[in-house]
Amino acid sequence: MFGLSDSEDLKSLYQEIILDHGKNPRNQGTVEGHTCDANGNNPLCGDRILVTAKVDEGFIEEAAFTGKGCAISIASASMMTEIVKGRTIDEFKKLFASVRAVCTESDDVDIESMSVFGELEEDVSRLAALGGVRNFPMRVKCATLAWHTLLSCLEGNKSVSTE
Ligand code: ZN
Repeated sequence: MFGLSDSEDLKSLYQEIILDHGKNPRNQGTVEGHTCDANGNNPLCGDRILVTAKVDEGFIEEAAFTGKGCAISIASASMMTEIVKGRTIDEFKKLFASVRAVCTESDDVDIESMSVFGELEEDVSRLAALGGVRNFPMRVKCATLAWHTLLSCLEGNKSVSTE
């Protein structure tokens, strides 16, 4: 269902999602009363973002980002801040694993069959939009930068670099 080679229609839908988030990023800024913050740096592309998040009793109440980067890095950060809202840290880690899988697996991977998805399947299907980077290995770091940065934030590290 989510195979990116399925049809041109699906490809253009994914491109639309990326373009929409790239042009109109959600959750830009810093979370008021945030409990963690981290800088993410992707020197290969020049993407630099700051992610802030508010965690309460294991739940990510809110996440936001600021920074500059290419359309893919900004779109991914935007999608991430929407999707992680209200999630547990464990769910975030599963989603991150899914993002990595979506970005790096071959076209014929059956995303739906992967056990990590479970009840997160709907969110993961949205993340399939990032799968377009598969054909551009350098872009995988752009697509995952925000996720690495939020992970660092949650783990109490102040900065992360993709190199
Ligand atoms: Zn980039």
